[in-house]
Amino acid sequence: MLEFVERDLKAQAPDLVGGSGFQDVRLTYRIDPLLGNSSRLISGSKLQPSEPPEYSMISERTGFCPFCIDAIDEATFPFPDELIPGGKISLGSSRVVPNILAYSTYSAVGIYDTTRHFLTLKDFDEALLANAFKAMGYHTQMVRRHDPELEFSSINANYLASSGSSLVHPHLQSSNDYVPLTTQRLFLQRCRSYLRGENGETVFDEYVKAANTSGRFIADTGRISWITPFAPIGFNEVWGVFKDNSDIIQLTDYDYDELSAGLSKVFSAYEAANLSAFNFSLQGGGNEGAQLGYRVNFRVVSRSPLQPFYRSDATYFERLGLEAMIDLSPEDWAEQVQLQFH
Ligand SMILES: [Zn+2]
Repeated sequence: MLEFVERDLKAQAPDLVGGSGFQDVRLTYRIDPLLGNSSRLISGSKLQPSEPPEYSMISERTGFCPFCIDAIDEATFPFPDELIPGGKISLGSSRVVPNILAYSTYSAVGIYDTTRHFLTLKDFDEALLANAFKAMGYHTQMVRRHDPELEFSSINANYLASSGSSLVHPHLQSSNDYVPLTTQRLFLQRCRSYLRGENGETVFDEYVKAANTSGRFIADTGRISWITPFAPIGFNEVWGVFKDNSDIIQLTDYDYDELSAGLSKVFSAYEAANLSAFNFSLQGGGNEGAQLGYRVNFRVVSRSPLQPFYRSDATYFERLGLEAMIDLSPEDWAEQVQLQFH
């Protein structure tokens, strides 16, 4: 059985409205049974933006951009022919090119749309996302075929500077390594220590089932269950958990279509909440993943909104305490996202 640890931290704060004395304030502490991280869910604070983002601050192209259609062929290298026959990957207006920053043994950059220098959150529609995911998925498959000793693949994104993105032109990135990311390692550890159910239920199956019965379920689309996590790592976090795939290289065009449809709905919920920046990560479980019950998981969080002199949403809690401080309960957030899926 999965243990969902929750504790009332019994906080008190000055009663500013009442005038004098202290009053009880709801402050909930949770430990996530899958990743092992803890989160504190605060109340009574408005950390999220009250105004929509002002995209015009950055949407105009002011100089050279290596990801725009007029420059990309000169500004990027083709892949080696033994990795990608012909050296180039494109689908619709999307492109995948080698990353010039070597942060993984094999990494690539995907450009959602080379014909549009800037995309607002609303522009990330199902078709745009599906082309980019499929092109990145193809690169991942070719890398894993080229070097079968590579195990750990992920497809990830930063959008806008506050999320860590270094170029304005929206893009996504992949990692393919002999070693797992910390989250891939923790998920696999949890799978390994979990006694599978009578019908072979995995720890991921149980986690999704618990979300279903505790107000954190959003929707089922295709082979993906959309939920909010029990103890989030980031703001407005949503997970897409695949029902029966353990690695990214097993995903089909159908899966990428479903993933893109769901993600575009999550982005609609972000837009409705005046949010803009995000990070996401789609992570596979490597060669042992299938046997251990790992499930391909997609996780997306919002980041500090697009505004001048923004306040970073990563405080000492997150960076040095490895603990998120969240101002909206996963149950309330699931309700808001669910509206977009109907
Ligand atoms: Zn551009």
